[in-house]
Amino acid sequence: MKINRHYLDLEKSYLFTMINHKVADYQKAHPEQSIIRLGIGDVTLPLCPAVVTALEKASAEMGVKETFRGYGPEQGYDFLREAVAHYYEKKGVNLEMNEIFISDGAKSDVGNILDLFDADNTVLVPDPVYPVYVDTNIMAGRKVVFADATAENGFLPMPDESLDADIIYLCSPNNPTGAVYNHAQLKAWVDYAKAHDAVILFDAAYECFVADSSLPRSIYEVEGAKEVAIEFCSFSKTAGFTGTRCGYTVVPKALVKEGVELNGLWLRRQTTKFNGVPYIVQRGAEAVFTEEGQQQTRANIDYYRQNAKVLADTLDRLGVFYTGGKNSPYIWMECPNKMKSWDFFDLLLEKAGVVGTPGAGFGRNGEGFFRLTAFNDHENTAEAAERLEKLLRELLNK
Ligand code: PLP
Repeated sequence: MKINRHYLDLEKSYLFTMINHKVADYQKAHPEQSIIRLGIGDVTLPLCPAVVTALEKASAEMGVKETFRGYGPEQGYDFLREAVAHYYEKKGVNLEMNEIFISDGAKSDVGNILDLFDADNTVLVPDPVYPVYVDTNIMAGRKVVFADATAENGFLPMPDESLDADIIYLCSPNNPTGAVYNHAQLKAWVDYAKAHDAVILFDAAYECFVADSSLPRSIYEVEGAKEVAIEFCSFSKTAGFTGTRCGYTVVPKALVKEGVELNGLWLRRQTTKFNGVPYIVQRGAEAVFTEEGQQQTRANIDYYRQNAKVLADTLDRLGVFYTGGKNSPYIWMECPNKMKSWDFFDLLLEKAGVVGTPGAGFGRNGEGFFRLTAFNDHENTAEAAERLEKLLRELLNK
């Protein structure tokens, strides 16, 4: 018996453990200090009423012989796939029903999709980025190279002809930087993928935060993208499904490699290794796309957007460089006075009782940067922004 030794190549994931330890130690030493957490990437508002009603109705159906459902289609019920297709139509993207696969969330599919690719592929991952892309490839023993996201390129790395990558991850709006690619930039990636016979894995988990209508919310808004890209999306941030679990992955029929449709491979993979998302959850997800559901989920997203604006306005007043905050729930700020991410984390906790996430935890280029999130309530966010402003004014002599 041999284990998969690639697991031993994974770096220890200590980011959130370390944060929790530091916060617990601080709270013990200063029990009177109120701590405000702007570090979490989880939503805080509950499911909207339209979703709850649909979940209740579907639960009741499951208790009645005539409407009970057992195993469902692995790729999702038609009612939800139709609703997703209709949602894409509104973005100007036409999808066939069998190009849409319902999943239990973007995280699983971003990892599972790698079943379709040989271990002998080179993977290009932006740095910094959501750590799952790197770790899932290391587990499979794939070679990972990095595209540098820096202040100079607005944390939006562009194709580099010197790199020869087979699988390219793009995340827009990005976690952790909040940066969003425009059409021309995505087109350049699509062209690069075509020229290099590569596949783009496009993570659109935060598409619902794009407020600027000139920015793409799907890579398929870019001409030719269906021939090179797979897209992942999720109800987690759109509708507060982080604990309910539902997402969708689009594998276009036009995506053909070595004469094989990847759509067919993914269908085979899913029907073999996955038994579908619960009927009840899919009915809840369907309700997100109703008029009522759209209104209610939009209201929640706007609530988070207002938090992001409060934080972004604070940094604007002080002239601190940041990305995100406008079309994203994340604000990626430069640490003052060239401080290291963890040093700023300690100082912000110590002096202001505010918790964020050190950028260094998301990759080498994250050093010197810091992530704040909009997923707290208005009161706490306003208070945290005030405390942050006070500390930054002291540090920057402003
Ligand atoms: N993709 C990105 C970029 C994320 O930041 C997250 C979660 O934070 C996910 C995917 C996971 O989404 P899901 O909850 O659908 O698994």
